[in-house]
Amino acid sequence: MGHAAHDLRDEALATGTLAGLPDAHFIGGAWVRPARGRTMDSVDPGNGKVFARFAAGDAADIDNAVTSARKAFKGEWRRMVPAARGRILAQAAAMLRANVERFAIAETLDSGKRLIEARGDVAGAARAFEYYAGACDKMQGDNIPLGPDYLAYTMLEPVGIAAQIVPWNYPISTLARGVAPALAAGNCVVAKPAEQTPMTALMLAELLHAAGLPAGVFNVVTGTGKDAGAPLVAHPGIDHITFTGSVATGQSVMRAAAANVTRLVLELGGKSPLIVLDDADLDAAVEGVLGGIYENAGQICSAASRLIVGRRVHAALLERLVARVAKMKLGHGLRDADMGPLISPEQRARVAGFVDRAKTRGVLVACGGHESADPKTGQGWFYEPTILDALKPNDEAVTEEIFGPVLAVQIADDADHAVALANGTRYALVAGVYTRDFARAHRLAAAIDAGQVYINEYFAGGIETPFGGNRHSGFGREKGLEALRSYAKLKSVAARIG
Ligand code: NAD
Repeated sequence: MGHAAHDLRDEALATGTLAGLPDAHFIGGAWVRPARGRTMDSVDPGNGKVFARFAAGDAADIDNAVTSARKAFKGEWRRMVPAARGRILAQAAAMLRANVERFAIAETLDSGKRLIEARGDVAGAARAFEYYAGACDKMQGDNIPLGPDYLAYTMLEPVGIAAQIVPWNYPISTLARGVAPALAAGNCVVAKPAEQTPMTALMLAELLHAAGLPAGVFNVVTGTGKDAGAPLVAHPGIDHITFTGSVATGQSVMRAAAANVTRLVLELGGKSPLIVLDDADLDAAVEGVLGGIYENAGQICSAASRLIVGRRVHAALLERLVARVAKMKLGHGLRDADMGPLISPEQRARVAGFVDRAKTRGVLVACGGHESADPKTGQGWFYEPTILDALKPNDEAVTEEIFGPVLAVQIADDADHAVALANGTRYALVAGVYTRDFARAHRLAAAIDAGQVYINEYFAGGIETPFGGNRHSGFGREKGLEALRSYAKLKSVAARIG
């Protein structure tokens, strides 16, 4: 890390903010003040202090952004040769890499996450642009054999204007994994970041335009879900919606999409199982569990929030997990702690509610179970890394998404029992399997209902591997080449030529 990077972090630690953060919408290639002139506070979850203000948008701003995107869609962007689109996306990837520290610090201030994780998220966003840059000139159709008297072929056309509704837990990486394939397929985008974490979306808009994106191709309107998100998903000028967030909001977005018959990808919640069978490498499993539930303080849709462990290794694994958790240090995301805060006091109260009710039911709390604070300042919305042991399949700590640093442990008698427990919630996003028996691992991968299964490394894979949920975790797939299908309309043409 160079001097400049350290200077930036020192500046943020000393001042509690970052100079030059954006405070307006980005529409039509320019900063635009909110139509009604209202603003909102950005609060640092690591100390509870306001560090910036941003535009509180509403239906008028959304309409402006959709109009701007529609204009851009008919213009230069549509006529640009695909390879030139690819070069802009590749340039954006390079510029993101050059600005990792600035983006990461803004992300940490907004979301509370540890700087090391934020740097990884920004690098991941750069990777998304790099990956889809190479796809722009490969959106090709098929030739369909109908015999000598016919010529038939398919072509992939951009859908039009894609709305992106983004949650607060992975602001830059969630946005990038939607925007990069949408642009690669030739669409224009209107994004609405979460009101808790608007900064990096605005910074990305500015960067993409500096990389050569024509005005209006990527627009960002900030504000609440009710005032800005709802009018965006209900707007008749929108052709596709990618929504990432909670189940309840996803259902309301689905209703809004139905009114205009708008295409939709829903990435919702999860209660993902990590299965550790009796023959697993326990060293690898310990790392998988800790990273899977305590990264981003457990505020991960695909968190390993349920540990399903073989009866014979249950005690040994728990002992090791508890020993490691005891050494974890909480602290502000800009300092080198092992875990950061939760996003808001409300989210912390929600997490505490789950654990307190579990205590009342007599559930064994193996470690943690209390609210906490940054030891340096006594501030911030922290919660101890927590393990609830030996839970029954119908316990609410097993069936409900807690979205915090709380691991729910279930004990399995054998592999079949583990699969039955794994499939026992209404969610089906991801699953992990730890075993040395590779044939059994793949049998489990087939039997588990999930959008993706990680074997012997939780979160294995990257932008190349398709991602998404089944059942209440949503539908449609992001990432990989699969994501491009969401943003393309297939047309088949058949002609009589004989
Ligand atoms: P949320 O549903 O409250 O908000 C998500 C986004 O939707 C925000 O931008 C919000 O402003 C917006 N929104 C709220 N109401 C809206 C409405 N009526 N119309 C349109 N937009 C609206 O979710 P959250 O609390 O910010 O995020 C946490 C949830 O997201 C968790 O359930 C988590 O599992 C899920 N999540 C899923 C994935 C995934 O990829 N599957 C990734 C991250 C988070």
